[in-house]
Amino acid sequence: MSMFDKNISAEKLKSLEFAESAREQEWKAPSFALKLFGGSLDFNLIHPFPQQDPDDKKACDAYMARMEKFLRENLNPDEVDKTGEIPSKVYKGLADLGAFALKIPKEYGGCGFSQYSYNRIMHLISSYCGSTAVLLSAHQSIGVPQPLKLFGTPEQKKKYLPMFAKGAVSAFALTEPEAGSDPRNMSTTATPTEDGKFFLLNGTKLWCTNGLIADVMVVMAVTPPKIVKGKEIKQITAFIVEGAYPGIEKVHRCSFMGLHGIQNGLMRFNNVRVPRENIILGEGEGLKLALMTLNTGRLTLPAASTGIGKWCLNVARQWAAKRHQWGSAIGEHEAVALKLNYIASHTFAMDAVTWLTSAMADDKRRDIRLEAAIAKLFCTEVSWQIVDATLQIRGGQGYETSESLAKRGMDYWPVERAMRDVRINRIIEGTSDIMHLFIAREALDPHLSRIKPLLSGKVALNAKMTAALKMVGFYAGWYPGLCLPSLTAGPEGGLPRPLNEHMAFVRKASKKLARLTFHAMMKHQQKLESKQSILNRIVDIGMELFVMSAVCSYAQMLARETQANAVELADSFCADAANRVNASFQESAENVDGKKLEIARRILAREFEWMENQIIK
Ligand SMILES: Cc1cc2nc3c(=O)[nH]c(=O)nc-3n(C[C@H](O)[C@H](O)[C@H](O)COP(=O)(O)OP(=O)(O)OC[C@H]3O[C@@H](n4cnc5c(N)ncnc54)[C@H](O)[C@@H]3O)c2cc1C
Repeated sequence: MSMFDKNISAEKLKSLEFAESAREQEWKAPSFALKLFGGSLDFNLIHPFPQQDPDDKKACDAYMARMEKFLRENLNPDEVDKTGEIPSKVYKGLADLGAFALKIPKEYGGCGFSQYSYNRIMHLISSYCGSTAVLLSAHQSIGVPQPLKLFGTPEQKKKYLPMFAKGAVSAFALTEPEAGSDPRNMSTTATPTEDGKFFLLNGTKLWCTNGLIADVMVVMAVTPPKIVKGKEIKQITAFIVEGAYPGIEKVHRCSFMGLHGIQNGLMRFNNVRVPRENIILGEGEGLKLALMTLNTGRLTLPAASTGIGKWCLNVARQWAAKRHQWGSAIGEHEAVALKLNYIASHTFAMDAVTWLTSAMADDKRRDIRLEAAIAKLFCTEVSWQIVDATLQIRGGQGYETSESLAKRGMDYWPVERAMRDVRINRIIEGTSDIMHLFIAREALDPHLSRIKPLLSGKVALNAKMTAALKMVGFYAGWYPGLCLPSLTAGPEGGLPRPLNEHMAFVRKASKKLARLTFHAMMKHQQKLESKQSILNRIVDIGMELFVMSAVCSYAQMLARETQANAVELADSFCADAANRVNASFQESAENVDGKKLEIARRILAREFEWMENQIIK
């Protein structure tokens, strides 16, 4: 028995059930990634590679040119890093550029940009100043504009959306000292007043980006429980809270290893009176709102990661050619050359995933919850590897601060700051571990929705029989198809070599992945939810297959239009990704997870404390 089996406590089950209650239950539109996990490659869903709307693109191109000029002339990212402040003239300039209203519709005074354009702008800013990018992204990826755009009442939109065109800043407050990844631990309460017209907000919110300067924010709080069949069900509700409401205490400005310019803080709410009409979406719908907002909100991080990846490519390429050691440019030594290849081919992959998911978000004919989560997980993990490889290529100068480099007349390449700034992306908006769990839950949904009625004690026997018959009928048709080779090649067969070969690999591996998932479901049933070692491999394989597909579609489009050699980058990425897929399949079949987990359990039980010797604690 693994350590996780022993740990499935009543509390853990409650947290899982709570998260489950906030899930979007239905798949109203097709999802390329969901099908891929289920063993079917529907390349038509992502091919031909979607293009940005030409009018939106034209407006965005012009805007980006203005933004770049403004940033170059007015913002010194090193000063922000050193002083911990984004200067007020920058806030004002950004407001004048409409940067706080990029996605706000024009009827409310905003720029009316699409998600695609917004992501392009965030990609640009992220390549220059992490703190400024996070200021704008916390404000409009998860702050008030996005949930209001999606779920706001006409009155809420009319009252709040126009203020962002004038530069009002917003924030999103979910996290609390005891509620990080697990929102069920939330303790901030919103208690209705006697007349029911207001709620009194009490509690503490932690790490709220922009919270200290926000004119308005989304605050998640616990409202009175619903009683279902005599059982209390915890309710979380999202409120629009104005920064000027009495009772908001800004307790502490948090400082971090990077992103020194962000105004992130610990805040206390003391009997803050919030009008009932400030509820967004509905009482008890707060978590659902957060999850649905993040489906598109999450796409900023892939865009930002891609911007950073391209910046790293620029630095690494120049330095690897310029720096000579052992008789040649360091880029000619194989170890460095392979790192350069990784940076370029994996940045290309991030580019493909970012623009594919951005276009999907605007198109709205696809369910993108899986694709957005995969994009976030893949791009934040890969960009961290890329910054690390770039720092390694820069050697000692990579570790030196840009200020110190400048003082001794060296090239201005602040890789050290980039590394500090980028690290948080693997933690915010869902840690990489939580993204694995989220993706696994969604990927398993077709199985779980078939199997759950059979496992539930609450379902009547005849309903169980019907569910069992349906399930047998489905699997009798589905499973044999996973073991047979495809008779038709599908539209990916029309790709040039070697892309078509990579897509043939994806098609085959997708079937193998579906078999692996099915076998794991059969073996572990409900307990599979806790078997993270198994689930993580399933997710990692599905993620690589999704990215390979995006890369092949993107490369073909670029090769046709402008860049013939994009196919070479795609080929190189796909070769690496296929190796990782094969390794994950191999490890799924043969591993020592059980032993490792047992050692981890004993580490927690202090049995290896003797290892922590001869150090200054
Ligand atoms: C710079 C910064 C900006 C932020 N901005 C905001 C903001 O604007 N608004 C806001 O509400 N919050 C914000 N946050 C909070 C952020 O979203 C949380 O840090 C994040 O959700 C993780 O919570 P935690 O740090 O408490 O980690 P924990 O939840 O305590 O997790 C600690 C570790 O355990 C792992 N872990 C936890 N549960 C599981 C599990 N079930 N299975 C496997 N692994 C698990 C996690 O992956 C992580 O590695 C910010 C944080 C920072 C540092």
